[in-house]
Amino acid sequence: MIIIMEPKASKENIDRVVQVLTEHEFRVIVNQGEIHTVIDAFGDKTSITPGRISALEGVKEVKIIREPFRLASRDRKSEDTVIEFANGVKIGGANKPVMIVGPCSVESEYEGLRQVAIAAKEMGCEFLRGGAFKPRTSPYDFQGYEEKALKYLKRASEETGLLTVTEVMDSADLELICSYVDVIQIGARNMQNFKLLRDVGKSKKPVILKRGLSSTIREFLLAAEHIMYNGNENVILCERGIRSFDSTFTRNVMDIASIPVIKKYSHLPIIADPSHGTGQRYLIEPMAKASLIVGADGVMAEVHHDPENALSDGKQSLSIPMFKDMMTRVNAMKEHLHYEKNCLSANVD
Ligand code: PEP
Ligand code: MN
Repeated sequence: MIIIMEPKASKENIDRVVQVLTEHEFRVIVNQGEIHTVIDAFGDKTSITPGRISALEGVKEVKIIREPFRLASRDRKSEDTVIEFANGVKIGGANKPVMIVGPCSVESEYEGLRQVAIAAKEMGCEFLRGGAFKPRTSPYDFQGYEEKALKYLKRASEETGLLTVTEVMDSADLELICSYVDVIQIGARNMQNFKLLRDVGKSKKPVILKRGLSSTIREFLLAAEHIMYNGNENVILCERGIRSFDSTFTRNVMDIASIPVIKKYSHLPIIADPSHGTGQRYLIEPMAKASLIVGADGVMAEVHHDPENALSDGKQSLSIPMFKDMMTRVNAMKEHLHYEKNCLSANVD
């Protein structure tokens, strides 16, 4: 890290910073400038945090050179993480991007979910996703059918062979949820629920971690770090849009740039969710395509058998015909992207 001292910092202030750093086994170089003294410190940041240094008298600013996430970082692992499932489906690296689709909430009748699952299978998707425990802004909104919904997901998986995904909101439900589905999701609202991250870390189940409602990319990667630090390296990141000042036309601002940024700094796979990212069904296809072009390892989209009557997020859900129509074009594009990725890895070798 680099410590910039205030112009008025005294020699005692500077000596104190040097003393604290050397006590924590940092190698220190003091650069006396005309206005500021700048201290370069090389060492292990786990022994003393930048926050403690910035609290010392006379310190103006502490700049971190190495990113605080370690396990999730490309510096630690240069090759892409690939998460592989028992049926051979793989997420990440040079593998074909995956499609994760389904209704926002699994609803009371199995038939609707079955129709979506059959269409998903027919169009070559790998995952069926549906909410059983729903994080709703209002307590008066539909909260999910819980275990009944998990049973429907399992039944649809048995019928179609699709892998399944559902959200966990509470550690107390983790074991039950893990017994029904192949992937657990941590939703945007829980991205910084550190107890949940820790508990999901202790399980080995692959996890889709969605970006927090207004989190920075660094906070997002640090949330992944919590899961990995606790023992689960099977983390799939998901860009789902962030809050910004303009919500006049879209529900969130989908940060497409976060995809190549994360690819640069982390080896973890990242997928995109244009349903929550935009809140508009007409934007799902263009944003899905844009995400794939910039390197997303998959796309998550909400698909409902009857969006107008969906119990949640109907406006951002595709009907089955719209979904099939979109998939004909997305599949054609995926073939091309796959070819490009293969060429890229052939050139690297
Ligand atoms: C969801 O995936 O249904 C959901 C609630 O998403 P998010 O956590 O991104 O809002
Ligand atoms: Mn939803």
